[in-house]
Amino acid sequence: MSEISKEYDFKGVEERWVGAWDESIYYFDWNSSAPQYIIDTPPPYPTGNFHIGNALNWCYIDFVARYKRMRGYNVMFPQGWDCHGLPTEVKVEEIHGITKNMVPREEFRRLCEELTAGNIAKMRVTMRRLGFSNDWSNEYVTMDPDYYSKTQRSFVRMYDDGLIYREDHPVNWCPRCGTAIAFAEVEYDSRTTTLNYLQFASPLGDLEIATTRPELLAACVAVAVHPNDELRRKYIGSEVRVPVFDYPVPVIADEAVDPAFGTGAVMICTFGDKQDVRWWVEHHLPLRQAIDREGRMTEAAGNFAGMKISDCKDAIIDEMRSGGIIFKEEPLDQNVGLCWRCKTAIEILSERQWFVKIDPGEIVETSAEIRWVPEHMETRLLNWTGTMDWDWCISRQRIFATPIPVWYCEGCDEPLVAKEEWLPLDPNLTGPPVPCPKCGCCDFEPETDVLDTWMDSSISVLNVTGWLGLHEPRYPAQLRPQGHDIIRTWAFYTILRAKALVGTRPWDSILVNGMVLGEDGRKMSKSLNNFIAPEEVVAKYGADAFRQWAAVGGSPGSDVMFRWKDVISGGRFLQKIWSMYRFSAPHAVRSDDAAPNQVDRWLLFELSAMIEAVTESMERFAFDEAFRAIRSFAWEVLADHYIELVKARLYGPEGPEKRAAQDTIYKALEALTALLAPFTPFIAEEIRRNLSGESVHTASWPETLPIEPQPEGLLIKEVASAVRRYKSDRGMALNSPLAGIEVYCDLDLETADLSGSTGSSVSVKRGGPEIETRAVEVRPQMKAIGPIFKEKSGEIIGELKEMDPAVVARMVEAGRIEVDLGGDLVEVSPAAVEIVTETLSAGRAVDMISLDGATVLIGTGP
Ligand SMILES: [Zn+2]
Ligand SMILES: [Zn+2]
Repeated sequence: MSEISKEYDFKGVEERWVGAWDESIYYFDWNSSAPQYIIDTPPPYPTGNFHIGNALNWCYIDFVARYKRMRGYNVMFPQGWDCHGLPTEVKVEEIHGITKNMVPREEFRRLCEELTAGNIAKMRVTMRRLGFSNDWSNEYVTMDPDYYSKTQRSFVRMYDDGLIYREDHPVNWCPRCGTAIAFAEVEYDSRTTTLNYLQFASPLGDLEIATTRPELLAACVAVAVHPNDELRRKYIGSEVRVPVFDYPVPVIADEAVDPAFGTGAVMICTFGDKQDVRWWVEHHLPLRQAIDREGRMTEAAGNFAGMKISDCKDAIIDEMRSGGIIFKEEPLDQNVGLCWRCKTAIEILSERQWFVKIDPGEIVETSAEIRWVPEHMETRLLNWTGTMDWDWCISRQRIFATPIPVWYCEGCDEPLVAKEEWLPLDPNLTGPPVPCPKCGCCDFEPETDVLDTWMDSSISVLNVTGWLGLHEPRYPAQLRPQGHDIIRTWAFYTILRAKALVGTRPWDSILVNGMVLGEDGRKMSKSLNNFIAPEEVVAKYGADAFRQWAAVGGSPGSDVMFRWKDVISGGRFLQKIWSMYRFSAPHAVRSDDAAPNQVDRWLLFELSAMIEAVTESMERFAFDEAFRAIRSFAWEVLADHYIELVKARLYGPEGPEKRAAQDTIYKALEALTALLAPFTPFIAEEIRRNLSGESVHTASWPETLPIEPQPEGLLIKEVASAVRRYKSDRGMALNSPLAGIEVYCDLDLETADLSGSTGSSVSVKRGGPEIETRAVEVRPQMKAIGPIFKEKSGEIIGELKEMDPAVVARMVEAGRIEVDLGGDLVEVSPAAVEIVTETLSAGRAVDMISLDGATVLIGTGP
């Protein structure tokens, strides 16, 4: 064996293994009969940076994947890339100094693909460096035809099943991104705005209305009041005139109006918010669209047409102020809906869009079949499901996304949805191979809208389980790991789609991880200067140390703070393991005829109990508990106690006793490396290969051993550790011999390891020791004597020192000390002396240590 370095070279070891590992051992075997464990790994957005939040999530996944493999499962830990979307389009525009409309669609798409491929390559490097055991034979890229043909086929199937339809319907619209977005993509933020009070003219007297959005006056289609509103009831059924634009709208009654808000009368616009949409539908109101797709005022806004929304708002307010129409303005805190990508305030526009039908009842039922970890995360899905008013808008007005495989007949305007066997295709590049089935016309307009990227990623689970693939499909998957921020999108849509397309729940379990917070406790972000890249941590302390932070930083589901100290202590643990390995390596020898003694059996019992606890924690995804149990066994039980106890045997003569210790160390290291493999795959591999020549990553998870608790070995360990403390308290070298150790207890303890580790002769006796205590010295206390006896003090102290300590001790017990100063009896307080005693056993001076279950006597004199 080559010499083992004293310092653990994490960098050298980790980089060597990254280059040397055969990744095919992580491939899923489609032909295996072993139980499957398929993980629906999140496909990250290929930004080029695998950020620390990803890294935390992937650590959890890797802990599970490696653990399950070792437990004999046929594991798939695939890796996908969710490529489509606006951020890449924006980046391409930035890099090339263009806007998407300046180059042909295909060229723009090609630039997006090129950027994405480069970013994926960068992120793969980081993932490998972090030691993740991905199954790269099951990689997928949503922008590749292989994948998006499945997205398109899923669209066609759901269309054929009546689950997808196209309709004019109000949708959330981001004027900056220039596209419709789904409700799940709207974020709410509170902002202070102004509530403007204005008059709507009426023959019954002006009706006062309060609104935060006067720029929508041109979109006003009605005014509503509460039917029980005494003051305003008279207006119901009449018409009032919209100020500035001067056209009549009806006053309607609706119970949803809050008479206590504003003036008690509200204007209904198409559309200010979701409530406007409800009223618009319920009261069959007309549509007046005053805002266009770019966020500018339409012709309906008359003189304000062409203005940006905010400019129009200022102009209208000015006009109404000077005309005396606004009679009051007050600040109001309001929740405003924002685009989740760019934080622009969204508008609600009525647009012809594609929708997926949502059946909230089915989502709730299916979710109940899934094990949620932690359990309370399911509430987020259920609450969200309870707010579903609208179906899922899936069409987007962008380019870099899966094309919607549809054309419109120029003759009769009928949509022609592609057949599955024509796919994949882009209707902008390819026409349909058949004429219009309705009118026979051969001219078509392509659908230029594309699909929401969640349409791609919500079939990730179907893709990895083999839907529309070469093998017999294997859904449901066993695990979906994901962040809590995408429960209402990715989790929700996946459940919906799996049920719609294959009629089953998508996975057995969902493991929800928290977000990573900076060391200041705030969400990690570049602008807050608390941002840490995984590469930075790996360069300083290595992947194994980083992964330990992920393991112990918190339990899954809770937000986890990034702490350098966790990483640093991770690095220390690696060094500790390495030092222990370095010491043990020459002694770790497997032996078939080893006869373990009490101490060996105690260690094996502790090992077995730890294996059981760690296994149980892993089954609950309680990685922090699992790793702490391993660490405390390795550090305290094995390194600090067992190895110290058996050193003498290891360095002693050949024989069964020595072989038993060597074999026990071998077993402990073998099990320990296996248990560490999911958490710290690099050091586990390095040690295991040196130990047995085999990879720890093809090894099995350790079994518990058939062994009972070992009270004798446990007590030996307690005694040895008490003796060590005794020596260290007295500043003695740990290997300095003592004048004999007697252990009194009710167990038959073997003494070899005790005497070996204490460097002293040890005898074990039944029952308790016979002890007597003897006063051996009187120490007068000047502090107590001086102030009272002044110049006599010296004489008193001299006399006390001369007296028989046993006599003085009896006087102290009786409460008064009498000192004879040349015939004068002087009384001294018991507080004036300290009596030094000595403990004797069978006439020999000893120190006594009381332990739970034993008394230890240590000889102090001849
Ligand atoms: Zn936006
Ligand atoms: Zn037609």
